[in-house]
Amino acid sequence: MKIVVVYQSLLGIYGDQGNSRVLAKRLEWRGIDAEVVFVEPGTPIPDDGAIYLLGGGEDAAQTAAVRELKADGGLFRALDLGAVLFAVCAGYQICGHSFTIGENDEVREGLGLLDVTTVRGPERAVGEVLTRWKRPSGGEYVLTGFENHGGYTTLGPDATPLARVEVGLGNNGDGTEGAVSASGRVIGTYPHGPVLARNPELADHLLELALGHELGPLERAREQHEGLRRERMVFVRR
Ligand code: GLN
Repeated sequence: MKIVVVYQSLLGIYGDQGNSRVLAKRLEWRGIDAEVVFVEPGTPIPDDGAIYLLGGGEDAAQTAAVRELKADGGLFRALDLGAVLFAVCAGYQICGHSFTIGENDEVREGLGLLDVTTVRGPERAVGEVLTRWKRPSGGEYVLTGFENHGGYTTLGPDATPLARVEVGLGNNGDGTEGAVSASGRVIGTYPHGPVLARNPELADHLLELALGHELGPLERAREQHEGLRRERMVFVRR
């Protein structure tokens, strides 16, 4: 499976590229070949990837990323071909219709891949975020991560929240966190961590979308170890 990390130099703060390593490792543990490709502006984005990853970034970098992604076109083609897109924080914001940046609250056009809009919020959301997520293939899970964003995101009718907030701000303080497109194949979320390292079930959900079938849990001892680590982090409250 080809996993494409898009514009690490622009959208790579907080180590979100670690999400690619988690996906690759979980495939490897199941005996499925994984190839992780890092693409930077100026190099064409391949359109034959299965999962594309966008990470967090600063305001100016977000604008540059949108410009490059639109000029390149590869990500749009890949999504038309059925790829999965997982976008974190700035990456999530740019997937929407528009986002506001800079001291003068300049409105920038986004990629239009998710029915969400982001504006500058009254205060920066910084801290642990804890949410409840209903996994489409069954079960309810606690997701944890670290949020740090000044943009507040509101969902339109063609997007559904990824999860319900229990601790932290999430999208804008309305109790929702993240967004999922109508197809289910474009997912945006605020938490860093990397979030897939802290939430292996979410990683497996992305892999299931890309593979087109459900995956059994990994070896019990390994999942228990991951679960214990996650529980410890859950108790860090703001
Ligand atoms: N620049 C965006 C904001 O502050 C995204 C920040 C981030 O990716 N952590 O809202």
